[in-house]
Amino acid sequence: MTVKKKAAQPNDMPDWSEYRGVLVVVEQRDGVAKSVSWQLLGIGRKLAEKLEVETIALVMGHGVGHLAEEAIQRGADKVYICDDPVLSVYRTRPYSRVCLQLIRDIKPEIVLMGATYTGRDLAGAIATHLPTGLTADTTQLDVEPHPSRLLLASRPAFSEKMVATILCKQYRPQMATARAGVFEALPRDPSRKGEIIPITCEMKEEEIAARVLDFIQDEKRVNLEDADVIVAGGRGLGGPGPFRLLKELADALGGVVGASRAAVDAGWIGHEHQVGQTGHTVRPKLYIAVGISGAVQHLVGMQNADVIVAINKDPDAPIFKVAHFGVVGDLFQIVPALTEEVKKRRGLPFLKTENNDPVAAR
Ligand SMILES: Cc1cc2nc3c(=O)[nH]c(=O)nc-3n(C[C@H](O)[C@H](O)[C@H](O)COP(=O)(O)OP(=O)(O)OC[C@H]3O[C@@H](n4cnc5c(N)ncnc54)[C@H](O)[C@@H]3O)c2cc1C
Repeated sequence: MTVKKKAAQPNDMPDWSEYRGVLVVVEQRDGVAKSVSWQLLGIGRKLAEKLEVETIALVMGHGVGHLAEEAIQRGADKVYICDDPVLSVYRTRPYSRVCLQLIRDIKPEIVLMGATYTGRDLAGAIATHLPTGLTADTTQLDVEPHPSRLLLASRPAFSEKMVATILCKQYRPQMATARAGVFEALPRDPSRKGEIIPITCEMKEEEIAARVLDFIQDEKRVNLEDADVIVAGGRGLGGPGPFRLLKELADALGGVVGASRAAVDAGWIGHEHQVGQTGHTVRPKLYIAVGISGAVQHLVGMQNADVIVAINKDPDAPIFKVAHFGVVGDLFQIVPALTEEVKKRRGLPFLKTENNDPVAAR
């Protein structure tokens, strides 16, 4: 790519003044947006305000008009929407073609995507095509004010032992994927106004080599990032069996089961359930930590939950420092009692079976 040099810029940076705006790519599946997309609009808006530019969203898919409306309610000033049958399921080529076309047309200075499987794939494809710099899996995002306007994209590095802040001085746009659950989404504001601009997908089905024949649901997969309720267990459970008690409570609350690394390392539950620095970062409405001490590496993954409930027999456990509600006691008594109460209030049947019998679970 050619770089235009005008007057000398701070740090000898090229003149990027034609690149303005923060673009957030909204990820959806079957018309349902990933929560990370709204979290990125939240942080994207903060960055845009600091830079005094617009927050722009890109919605791609088929039958996704409602997401353009929601993007405005969640903080976008302007939404580009590409609604086309070719985009009904994610494939790298058509999705990256739409993104590339828009980025070349509107020249945003920052592009943000979720660090999901799809987001990582799409961001990599775009960054190498433009070409520009991409920082993957960021956990902090900030900008230097004018005139440098640099994106400060920070991410854990060296087995999560340090945080590296990465700059992209020589190329635009500055791109980053960000972890789900780290940033705060703005509440939906139906009174917000914005512009919705339809764009077309230049690719035809015949030009795309990849075909999606079927989706096979991975039975083991848990969607911790999008869960409203997480009931997480740690070493205090003492073995894999008691996770059944947690599952029962999670089911009653319409949530999923999480775990500490100690429980995962012990082989009691799969890594896909792990919450924390080397696991998932989550931001549910309710996080129930059962038999988890609250090591800092666990806290960084869940401390942004709206409500944290801790159940631990040690009153000095650090988890109580972040918990909104705490119960000091034996989880084998408290969890089944809690499940029973939740089921009673929700009108669900509570049968004392092997599944919720603490004695059998032990
Ligand atoms: C580089 C690095 C990355 C890491 N990444 C992560 C990560 O992503 N996620 C993570 O979780 N950890 C991570 N860790 C590990 C972390 O430091 C802790 O070792 C771990 O979180 C401890 O898990 P725990 O709370 O389940 O176990 P413990 O610290 O052993 O705590 C168990 C708790 O259960 C309580 N308990 C015991 N019996 C009962 C009972 N019957 N009823 C009620 N309470 C009971 C105890 O009082 C205790 O507080 C990482 C560590 C390092 C060095």
